[in-house]
Formats: sequence, structure tokens, C-alpha cells
Amino acid sequence: MGPEEGTDLVIRGISTLLTCDPGREVDGIEVPVEDGTVVVRHGRIVYAGPGDGSPVIPDGMATVIDARGHTVIPGFVDSHTHLAFSGDRAFELGAKLQGRSYLEILKAGGGILSSVRALRGTTLPSLLEQMRSRLDRMARYGTTTVEVKSGYGLDLETELRSLEAVSILDGTSRQDIHGTFLGAHAVPPEWSSDEDYADHICSSMLPAVAEQGIARFCDVFCETGVFSSEVTERILMAASGHGLVPKLHIDELESIGGADVAIKVGAISVEHLLRTGPEDARSLARSGIIGVLLPGTPFALMKDDYAPARMFMDEGLDVALATDCNPNCYTESMPFIISLACYRMGMTPFEAIRGATINGARALGLQDEVGSLTPGKRADIVILDGPTLDHLPYRFGINPVRMTIKDGTILGSGEP
Ligand SMILES: [Zn+2]
Repeated sequence: MGPEEGTDLVIRGISTLLTCDPGREVDGIEVPVEDGTVVVRHGRIVYAGPGDGSPVIPDGMATVIDARGHTVIPGFVDSHTHLAFSGDRAFELGAKLQGRSYLEILKAGGGILSSVRALRGTTLPSLLEQMRSRLDRMARYGTTTVEVKSGYGLDLETELRSLEAVSILDGTSRQDIHGTFLGAHAVPPEWSSDEDYADHICSSMLPAVAEQGIARFCDVFCETGVFSSEVTERILMAASGHGLVPKLHIDELESIGGADVAIKVGAISVEHLLRTGPEDARSLARSGIIGVLLPGTPFALMKDDYAPARMFMDEGLDVALATDCNPNCYTESMPFIISLACYRMGMTPFEAIRGATINGARALGLQDEVGSLTPGKRADIVILDGPTLDHLPYRFGINPVRMTIKDGTILGSGEP
């Protein structure tokens, strides 16, 4: 039996093929292949490279897709989302346009606590229906792997319900979905301080989350007025003890020592990083921690403050890109995030696509399975309109995805 027998999908004539395989980078850059071919067998990548080096596939052995005029890249790994929310906060847009700050909106009954009220009153079937529609949209925009945080329950029952939804969706949707316990997203009104609530998280919530067995990660919003660095460290140490991998929201508004905590607790990633300086970036890089950048957030907050992606990369910190999809930054579109990364953070199309694929996978510890078109990995592939990488960020606000493929199966297409 030749290696080409049993082949089930061939994409050929690809105008631009970018594998995002770190092994193909020379001096930190991968030169895309022109006239490329990708061969998939049993849901895994068998070959990704120049068409003339491809195994010969006999007629009728595989579904063949002609990708002339198109660009092919790995499926997007959206490594930071808060999809487990109910309803939306469209009503806050008017207040934002009047120049009201997030804290003013919070005081007027909006903000995160209104999402907490909404989710606590939402049944599991209703939450599932809402999350499913967001995941479907993500699939149409090319996302094949998604991280989902809890954190709009802030009580044991609703946090567990959010994670249960993650598990059900992982089992029933074609995408891979990975759960993060973010009980420390905000201090809920029934607790007087971050320290008291942290006691409750450590003594009651973490053991129950660990026993439920759904969350892989534990995240904390380490920020002035939310969780101090001391409290963050305490929660993440306890989480580690329960087998959860630490992640941190740090330096979104102020830098309060979150990077040091991340290194101390052995975090896999740190997220936001608007105020992270070069020294912290170097220390994070030395510890092999991935920086997850979320340019949708300043965009939605109508700020001109974007994370210093260029400086991070110069300091050796590997950066991922994610949507941060949540009621205050409501987008499922990784292509839009890639446009923002190029237009507002000075990332090149290659750097942005790498951030949205292999580096997202590294932020989730999934780099051996997904994130690049490497033989042996799962066949998670996006076919884009446009013949070069530049077309993806260049044309923004539209859906450039022609086809999303997960495990070698066509999930659907973007626009006709
Ligand atoms: Zn977030």
C-alpha cells in the first residue's frame, strides 16, 4: 500500500501557502510557498509544500479543491475568549459615545456586573444555544480551536454551569473547545474584598471545579481595584495544586507585578499587556511564557492604547492574538483582529497570522496537535479569498474566509 492510498482531501494550486510551522522559519520568517499543495488523510496533514513535491494522488482517491487565487493557512486558534455569557451590552454603546468611562458605566448598573446578573438568571439550555451561535460564527470566520473562560457567574453554581456548557459544546461541536476557570474575573457584590472572595475561591470553588474535571486552566484578572498581585498568586498556587494550569490577565490598566507572579506560578500565558515594559517582556520570554494580545479590547473601549507588540517581539516575547470575545468586545472574527494587529500594532501579516495560529496553540499547550500545517498534525485549515497574505488584513470588516476545514472535514464557508 503506497502512502497516497487512503488520501481523502487534496488542496492544490494554492497561490500562497503559509504553514506557520516554526521549523520552516529562517531568521524568524517563513517564506510562503507559491503554487502549493496540502494533502490530508484520515483528518491529519500528510503533506504541505510545493505542488511539484507533492505525493501523486490517483484520480478518484480524494476530494480535490482547486485553490488558485486563494491563500491557505492553518485554522485559527482563538486562545482568549469569554464566550460563556448571556445576552449582550449593546445598550452601553450610547454611553461610551457620550464619553462615559467604564467605571461610570459600572456605577450606572452596566459593565461586568450586569453580565453577571444576566448569566445567573440563564438556564443551561439557553446558555448553550447562545454559545452555539457564537461558535458557529467563529467557524465561518475560520476558527477551529477556541478557549472559553467562565467568569460571569462568580458564584459556584453559575461557574460550574458555564464550564459544563464548555464541556457539552466541546463534545457536540466540530471545533475543539478548552475551558478556563476564571472565578477571579471580578469581586462579586456579595463579597466585601478580593481577599475574602479569594478565600472562598480557594476553599470552595477550586476544589469543586477540579472535581468537575472540565477546566484545564485557571485565570485571574490581576489589576488595580480587582485582584492584587498577592491575591492572584495565592489563587494560582492553589489552582496549580488542583492540576489547573495558570493564566493571567495582567497590565491592562496598570502594571502591578503580574508578570512576576506569572513567572513564579509557572503560567503558560499572560494576556492584555498594554502596560508591560521591556524588562518584564524579557523576563516573560526567558520563562517561555506566551503573551496573548487582544487588540479588539482597546478598539471596543474607544482608546488609542494598543499593546506594544513590536517591542515585545524585539525583546523575544512570542505573541499570540485572540478576540477576547465578551459583552464589552463582541466579535468572533479573528480576521478582524488580524487587521487591527497590522493597522494598530504594526505587526506584519505573517506575524499576525502566526499569532492567530501556532502561537495561539502554544498559549493553550496544543502546539503538538494544532496551529500549523505540519505533517502529522490535525488537518485544521482555512482557505482565504485573495492570492497573498496581505489580502487578509488589507481588506477589513468583511469575511475573507472561503472555507474552514476541521480534522479534514469541511465545516462550512464564509461568504459565497
Ligand atoms: Zn479577557
